[in-house]
Amino acid sequence: MTQPLHRVVIVGGGAGGLELAANLGRQYGPRHVFLVDKDDTHIWKPSLHEVAAGTLDIHREGLSYFMLAKDCGFSFVHGALQSLDRAGKHITIGPVHADTGDEVLPERVLAYDTLVMAVGSKSNFFGTPGAAQYATALDSTEQAERFRLKLLHALSMANRNKAMGEGRPINIAIVGGGATGVELAAELLEAYASFTYYGLDQLDPGHDCHIALLEGADRILSNLPPKMSTAARSLLEERGVTVYTSVRVAAVEEKHLIDSEGGRYPADLCVWAAGIQAPLFLTGLGLETNRIQQLVVDAQLRTQDADIFAIGDCAQAPWLGQEGYLPARAQVAHQQASFMLKLIKSRIAGQPEPDTVFKFKDYGSLVSVGHSRGVGSLMGVLSGKSWFVEGLLARFMYMSLHLLHHKAVLGPVRTASLALGRLLMKRGAPRVKLH
Ligand SMILES: Cc1cc2nc3c(=O)[nH]c(=O)nc-3n(C[C@H](O)[C@H](O)[C@H](O)COP(=O)(O)OP(=O)(O)OC[C@H]3O[C@@H](n4cnc5c(N)ncnc54)[C@H](O)[C@@H]3O)c2cc1C
Repeated sequence: MTQPLHRVVIVGGGAGGLELAANLGRQYGPRHVFLVDKDDTHIWKPSLHEVAAGTLDIHREGLSYFMLAKDCGFSFVHGALQSLDRAGKHITIGPVHADTGDEVLPERVLAYDTLVMAVGSKSNFFGTPGAAQYATALDSTEQAERFRLKLLHALSMANRNKAMGEGRPINIAIVGGGATGVELAAELLEAYASFTYYGLDQLDPGHDCHIALLEGADRILSNLPPKMSTAARSLLEERGVTVYTSVRVAAVEEKHLIDSEGGRYPADLCVWAAGIQAPLFLTGLGLETNRIQQLVVDAQLRTQDADIFAIGDCAQAPWLGQEGYLPARAQVAHQQASFMLKLIKSRIAGQPEPDTVFKFKDYGSLVSVGHSRGVGSLMGVLSGKSWFVEGLLARFMYMSLHLLHHKAVLGPVRTASLALGRLLMKRGAPRVKLH
């Protein structure tokens, strides 16, 4: 008698989910492995600050899930997860509509034997008045593109006004001095230099555009070693960014931020990068969630339902060997995808699951502080020591994270051709997106 087909459904094709789907797909094929995503194109989320600054063109960066499905051997199901029926072991995927409102795909039901939730996270405004209305979050390509256009228009207007002798500086405020806020500030400096190079020549760097980074803790990059905070801060300040620490933003207005002491900070454009929460719909699935809506999982990444797992930013997983929970980082999502691969293989084979638990190996953190600079702290996993790296080396290592993700999905040969192709295309394109 043939074994019934074990169906693995992965919801969310980001840093963790796509790697898992690609690796499983290559081994078991599209009748076993299903990837569901609300979008039809995969993006590497850590690139979104570059999209927002215009230094990366998202139309060249995205990878079609339909192409990836064909190449990696999984089935792609386009649409957002709408509901979960644990008793019936199926999920419902909502219809997909075109911009015109026409229904492109209807509501569908997908049965699973193993379900892996990998739907990521989005910004947490912590209920700050005005934040959702006036600040831009960098959770999606649409938001990053919207910010880029706002920036381009604001700079064009400032350039025109200055030419007419009516100049006033543009103030950009970034709330949150974690890796995303720091990298965005650095990327905006690069973009600004390129905009002036391409014709906004009335603008004087350092005078006509001010970037402020506001952090609630007493140092930026507060989750990383103090040496990295000091190095990143001095690199940003050297290049004209104003860094405020121990400042809690209490309200966002159309042109200002207000802190908890009543201090006001000018903000023509405001980006919110101050914390994350998992998507709200997770709280309606009948599974345990925490106060930031993440699914609570055990050391095997399993929810309270034996057939449902969660990985990446949408999961609250214990950090074995440390206090607390694993951080929301691409490195965690990547390692969890590898862990799940082994566990799911036994489930597909109908064998007892290994009783191993997920142990995160922290290889350190790298933060890009410009196209030729980075700072980082690399962990010697065996020795437990950490090394501080800086400059071009740190920047190259930072870029290799993206390549490693592509390699896990596309394999080494296609990753190399893609990287080469993008490098060559850069030669024929402006340094910053101008339209
Ligand atoms: C600007 C920025 C810079 C960052 N820089 C770094 C960095 O340098 N290093 C680092 O380690 N981390 C960085 N991060 C964090 C990193 O991006 C995340 O930790 C990582 O992407 C999490 O992976 P994931 O698979 O959990 O989720 P994601 O990569 O966010 O993927 C989630 C997927 O789920 C899909 N989805 C969501 N809801 C649904 C639904 N209802 N139905 C179907 N699909 C759905 C989404 O479309 C998406 O494809 C950065 C994040 C941002 C925003």
